Amino acid sequence: MLDPATARRQMVDSQLRARGISDPRVLNAMLRVPRHEFVPAPYRADAYEDHPLPIGDNQTISQPYVVAVMLESLQLTPHDTVLEVGTGSGYVAALLAELAAQVFSIERHPALADNARRVLTALGYTSVRIFTGDGTLGLPANAPFDAILVSAAALSVPPALLAQLREGGRMIIPVGSSDSQQLQFIRICNGQPVISLREPVRFVPLVHNGD
Ligand code: SAH
Repeated sequence: MLDPATARRQMVDSQLRARGISDPRVLNAMLRVPRHEFVPAPYRADAYEDHPLPIGDNQTISQPYVVAVMLESLQLTPHDTVLEVGTGSGYVAALLAELAAQVFSIERHPALADNARRVLTALGYTSVRIFTGDGTLGLPANAPFDAILVSAAALSVPPALLAQLREGGRMIIPVGSSDSQQLQFIRICNGQPVISLREPVRFVPLVHNGD
């Protein structure tokens, strides 16, 4: 097995750069964050492979390329405050912490939230705060956000999340049913959401209130 730093370099070169990811801040963040620390022990040898992996509670850590596409779309700055919906393993939260000033992340499964908190603390990611709860409601007390990244597929864009973006704020969210989803990129311009459609993707469902 390759050492993790070499495996990460190969992942960045062959899965990300080769497919058109070019933002140096995103590429550097993906070189730095030890993805294998966020993957359960039985799958650790596959941590840098080109696909999602199980993380427990029927959930997955997303494919590195899809994570990079989502991060690149948000054009984060070191001053930004970001909300993630669907913490899962905490991997994306760590990447967001590399790219922005403050990260809030919500996870509905308490065991996943606890595990992500433990890993992020052990790795020294002090700018991430993880909440257990329903992410479709966002975090009104900490809004507005410069950017929102939704790590699970919504049937439609939750209105509460749109309402928590500041003017000029950006959101990336997979939208669709379990077998057909597309990334939507949304920017708030003059108080209105402007939507553009991006790559087709496959995420676990975002559980909406009452599901
Ligand atoms: N970004 C994660 C990928 C997580 S998969 C990572 O880096 O590992 C999507 C996660 O969204 C799952 O953990 C799932 O439990 C969570 N989720 C689904 N619906 C949710 C909701 N309404 N509120 C909060 N979390 C939700």
